[in-house]
Amino acid sequence: MGQIKLNQVTKSFGDVQVIPPLDLTIEDGEFTVFVGPSGCGKSTLLRLIAGLEDITSGHIEIDGADATYVPPAKRGLAMVFQSYALYPHMSVRKNIAFPMKMAGIDEAEQNRRIEGAAKALNLTDYLDRKPGQLSGGQRQRVAIGRSIVREPAAFLFDEPLSNLDAALRVGMRLEISELHERLKTTMIYVTHDQVEAMTMADKIVVLRAGFIEQVGSPLELYHKPRNEFVAGFIGSPK
Ligand code: ADP
Ligand code: MG
Repeated sequence: MGQIKLNQVTKSFGDVQVIPPLDLTIEDGEFTVFVGPSGCGKSTLLRLIAGLEDITSGHIEIDGADATYVPPAKRGLAMVFQSYALYPHMSVRKNIAFPMKMAGIDEAEQNRRIEGAAKALNLTDYLDRKPGQLSGGQRQRVAIGRSIVREPAAFLFDEPLSNLDAALRVGMRLEISELHERLKTTMIYVTHDQVEAMTMADKIVVLRAGFIEQVGSPLELYHKPRNEFVAGFIGSPK
């Protein structure tokens, strides 16, 4: 399960409110993309869902239970960090095993999940390498692998491909979409890249200055943008 519901959620840093009261429901299994210009609050919103930032007011529900004050490690969500967050001195296997070790999962179960993740991500032949011996795309897959093994209710991605070159980005985009097809787990994916949003999303949330301008499928936003901002952003002629 992985339904996430935000009720009147706000976030202020000091006197500055960066997220005005916001309501949003993300359905179980949905691939939702938060898209909007730099500084519009995408990362903040994701971090509020993950519990990495405290919300200023409002409530967050995960699968119907109030998660507002639940610490990040207990929310059952996996934040996928960029590939540079790997431990350089550890093998791929150890990098993937690390969060399970922390969670006290026994070694046989760790190995079962590592084999499964490696197979899903085509990393089976690379388990004994160090991150420095991998390509950028492979490193990104290891970062995803480290999240898969926790069997989360949802994956949260914050511009995971932004430091990859253009060709790799296209490949990884397809891989993440394929992974979603295979796992059918809720995914929330933050990007400022309209093409990523249009090609990957079941549902797109267009943000501007912390406000939701529009929520809809790529086709809905393309054909029926609510205003000039959405039209301009999604790039359909108006
Ligand atoms: P995005 O990810 O869409 O680029 P962010 O969520 O990072 O946007 O930022 C939204 C707004 O909140 C920006 O104006 C940013 O400067 C501000 N902000 C983000 N984090 C902090 C922080 N820790 N302290 C103060 N302001 C912050
Ligand atoms: Mg950001």
